[in-house]
Amino acid sequence: MDAKARPAAVLEGGEALDALIAALASEGRAVLGPVARDGAIVLDKISHADDLPRGWVDEQSAGHYRLRREGEAYFGATLGPQGWKRVLHPPRQSLWKTTGEGAQTEIVPTPPDFTPRALIGVRACELAAIAVQDRVFTEGPYADPHYAARRDGLFIVAVNCTRAAETCFCVSMGTGPRARTGFDLALTELDDGRFLAEAGSDAGQALLDRLETGPADEATRAEAEAAIARAARQSRSIDTRGLPELLKSVPDHPRWSEVAGRCLNCANCTLVCPTCFCTTVEEASALDGPETERVRRWDSCFTTDFSHIHGGAVRKGAKARYRQWMTHKLATWVDQFGTSGCVGCGRCISWCPAGIDITEEAAAIRSEGGHDADSRS
Ligand code: SF4
Ligand code: SF4
Repeated sequence: MDAKARPAAVLEGGEALDALIAALASEGRAVLGPVARDGAIVLDKISHADDLPRGWVDEQSAGHYRLRREGEAYFGATLGPQGWKRVLHPPRQSLWKTTGEGAQTEIVPTPPDFTPRALIGVRACELAAIAVQDRVFTEGPYADPHYAARRDGLFIVAVNCTRAAETCFCVSMGTGPRARTGFDLALTELDDGRFLAEAGSDAGQALLDRLETGPADEATRAEAEAAIARAARQSRSIDTRGLPELLKSVPDHPRWSEVAGRCLNCANCTLVCPTCFCTTVEEASALDGPETERVRRWDSCFTTDFSHIHGGAVRKGAKARYRQWMTHKLATWVDQFGTSGCVGCGRCISWCPAGIDITEEAAAIRSEGGHDADSRS
């Protein structure tokens, strides 16, 4: 999907968004988008533009997330705790169930979910995260049929960010704030309530052709560019130059012990991260019958069980776990998948109860030298 060489168009405010949602629903798709609920932006089914978090913006900093009322934009609030990974790679995925009893017991694989879906409001960093998970789940010899089914035929409406949260650092990771690839349609919300719409695929263009649109003149395009440029002014960044080699060369750096003194091993950072993909499997037997179900559920490298092998856990303490997580994200992920495991969304910063900030930790590792006595705890 690529936005090149397709003419942009203008959608006029909320009524045009309603028409867009209705057009996607008329194709039999479940339409999902951001919704303000319980003090946060979450992802859910939407039927109308009124379901979107209009007039809300977010305040985010290390260990802090709040919504407050400001303006009238539909997409003024940036990322909430939930990434689109919960749609494509859900927290719990049934793998099989048994039927029958005794010698008649049969294992019945859970069929993949081919429900056609449309995602509205996908930010540029999230597109990058989806591209990372595509690589993890669909490339190589062990493609995941459940992810592939959910991904198949997905329609993505990206939204270019026009404001950044204080925790965003997509610019330094080369993933945002403008959506460049991986979408069917990209919208830029202008200050006067109109949207500049650009198709990124034939399916996106076909949908745009069905909607009532106006032409996008030079001034409107310039306005959209200026709005996106606002979101590119970000106070956080990671200097990625030589970072994989640096991180792999400092297993005994004293900063790992320093961060371990604050880390609670709560796993929030991995659960909110849109690229973290680790899972475990568990089986549950019904108390009132012979049925058993095997479920795959999200797991985290911050738990003791995650690295348990014969003889105990390999990574016994917070130091080893944080070092593993950050080194995987920013270094060994590149060896495995050819790209960074961090897209700069900033979620792990906002949702860390201890306020641990991956940008600060990466900068500290770069600037401080030295070695720690015990690298295994
Ligand atoms: S490591 Fe943190 S900033 Fe990077 S993608 Fe994951 S949650 Fe976002
Ligand atoms: S870094 Fe923060 S979010 Fe991650 S496990 Fe430690 S305390 Fe929890």
